[in-house]
Amino acid sequence: MATTKKDIRALSKEQLREFFVKQDDKAFRGNQVYEWLWSKSAHTFEDMTNLSIETRQMLEDNFVINHIHVDTMQKSSDGTIKNAVRLHDGLIVESVLIPTKTRTTACVSSQVGCSLDCRFCATSRLKRMRNLNPDEIYDQVVAIDKESRLYHNKPLSNIVFMGMGEPLMNYNNVLKAIDKITSPEGLGMSPRRIVVSTSGVPKMIRKMADDEVKFKLAVSLHSAIDEVRTSIMPFNATFPLKDLREALVYWFEKTKNRITYEYVVWKGINDKREDAEALVQFCKFAPSKVNLIEYNPIDDGEFQQADSAATDMYVSILERNNITVTVRRSRGKDIDAACGQLANKQ
Ligand code: SAH
Repeated sequence: MATTKKDIRALSKEQLREFFVKQDDKAFRGNQVYEWLWSKSAHTFEDMTNLSIETRQMLEDNFVINHIHVDTMQKSSDGTIKNAVRLHDGLIVESVLIPTKTRTTACVSSQVGCSLDCRFCATSRLKRMRNLNPDEIYDQVVAIDKESRLYHNKPLSNIVFMGMGEPLMNYNNVLKAIDKITSPEGLGMSPRRIVVSTSGVPKMIRKMADDEVKFKLAVSLHSAIDEVRTSIMPFNATFPLKDLREALVYWFEKTKNRITYEYVVWKGINDKREDAEALVQFCKFAPSKVNLIEYNPIDDGEFQQADSAATDMYVSILERNNITVTVRRSRGKDIDAACGQLANKQ
């Protein structure tokens, strides 16, 4: 039977304090419960051992704690781990742990499915079902942090919002989750170790700048020529490059933060000199970094990674124009955990 009890983790600390005052208890009780819910990740009211049995029962009568379950965990030969995460309503999202020598990174989802239609991305084949709640985003990070400690003997060091979904189309919840992740009452991580990756929603990039967020921004550009970008990322027709660029100029003026661009070079699509030159023109207004990422095939063979000569051409043109460029290899390909491969198949 569907429960009508409220998810207690939808309440802020202040709301929890008020709740206890209304129950003729001390506001401080709210702080205790908040700590159990967030920094201690309690899954049941019973776990809250510094509360009286009556208080725990009263909470049980009024609320539920919705938490995620890691349904399956797959391990890649390179140490990458992919979790299929079951939400309280049965829907599934995926998150990934990517270990390297110097860091362990969580790649988390922000939506169930995605409403964007990037033609090279497996997640775009899944209909967008709903946004994730802040606690569902937070829980993915907690689950990966545990796995990082267990399998790699170190805590999680970085987080990227590069899993399923478009984070800027679930901005409020992503922001709330990041608040919890960075707060000392949550995981206490530095916002400088968090990257939000977007396909480029100009209005929301401006909003992020106005909100003076402290995390980093990455833009999945893939082409700086409208016609080409629209052919592979059709929503570019609604948010053309001119609008995206203006929003990024605004972001840079307000935050002075370097912008990272994610970029795949595909055979016959964006592998010509004029493509690289357009990229330089697009991003040279601010200190920029271009990550040339490896394409992870998603079955139908329509897109193919360009040959290394095309990548070399991009690298030399970007470097000549003082734009930082890195060539990134994919991780976790054997378990479909690499960028763009998250599609709930097991
Ligand atoms: N919606 C957000 C975050 C999810 S996608 C965004 O677009 O940024 C995370 C990154 O994976 C993006 O840079 C995206 O362009 C890239 N990506 C998607 N499909 C890919 C594929 N098949 N191979 C390599 N990268 C891919």
